[in-house]
Amino acid sequence: MSSSNLNALLSEGTSISDFFSDLNVSILQAEANFRSIQVHVDSLLRVLSLLLLKKKAALKAAIESLPRVTVTAEEESYKACSICMEEFDIGSEAREMPCKHRFHSGCVEKWLRLRGSCPLCRYVMPLEEEES
Ligand SMILES: [Zn+2]
Ligand SMILES: [Zn+2]
Repeated sequence: MSSSNLNALLSEGTSISDFFSDLNVSILQAEANFRSIQVHVDSLLRVLSLLLLKKKAALKAAIESLPRVTVTAEEESYKACSICMEEFDIGSEAREMPCKHRFHSGCVEKWLRLRGSCPLCRYVMPLEEEES
């Protein structure tokens, strides 16, 4: 390789790194897109199982096993229960679904007995068999 070719290559250095950083950005974007597609597909499959299998209520055991959490002052994002729209009282008990959304204990229990999915993100709980 002659030195002039090498110099030409080195002077191209900026565009090569630009190329790689662009490539990196597009890979990250593709990954993010893929993840959001996966989430949507998962959600869609659960919706289909709700519709096709005619299951509606969450398993009692699954409802009962939802972790009980105490509402703390720092939990800015969990200020209100999306089922009754009432604000949580600091120090009161809330229940956390596997999707990390939190509701009043009584609210989420009633809700999940009617429909086994999170009212916010439609995360579907293990479902009770429908009696036929
Ligand atoms: Zn509530
Ligand atoms: Zn949720």
